[in-house]
Amino acid sequence: MSNILDDHPVPKWLGAACNGCGKCCIDSNYMLNLPATLSDIRRWRKEKREDILEYVDFIGEGVYDLWVKEGKSLPRCPFVRKDRGKPTYHCTIHETRPQACRGYPLTAGQMVELGCEILDEIESVTMRISRAKSK
Ligand code: SF4
Ligand code: SF4
Repeated sequence: MSNILDDHPVPKWLGAACNGCGKCCIDSNYMLNLPATLSDIRRWRKEKREDILEYVDFIGEGVYDLWVKEGKSLPRCPFVRKDRGKPTYHCTIHETRPQACRGYPLTAGQMVELGCEILDEIESVTMRISRAKSK
């Protein structure tokens, strides 16, 4: 992960340009560092989401790691599903997904690292704006 790029936070509204490519949810490196918050844990306990809690690893001091099975980090989220006949994916726990997923993307470095396709959209729009301005 590039620390220089990670110093560049991105605005929350960028998330609206997500095209559902799924790269974030099926990236093994991203899965290695995906945390849950205490509020995620409390919510899942309240909702009796044992199906989610079984993939949470308690690291200590209020730190929880996602998505872990039998002590091993899974290479992709167990709750992501491919859309039938489409190149896209969807989250099957969208309504109660972790805070980390709600906040994505946080930084430019994170997007570059994952090959997030929001970047393609930004580049495409930027090029169209440049062309329009140069006329
Ligand atoms: S919980 Fe949903 S948004 Fe988060 S990694 Fe899994 S599929 Fe993706
Ligand atoms: S990598 Fe980016 S565009 Fe693809 S699903 Fe994740 S947020 Fe959306």
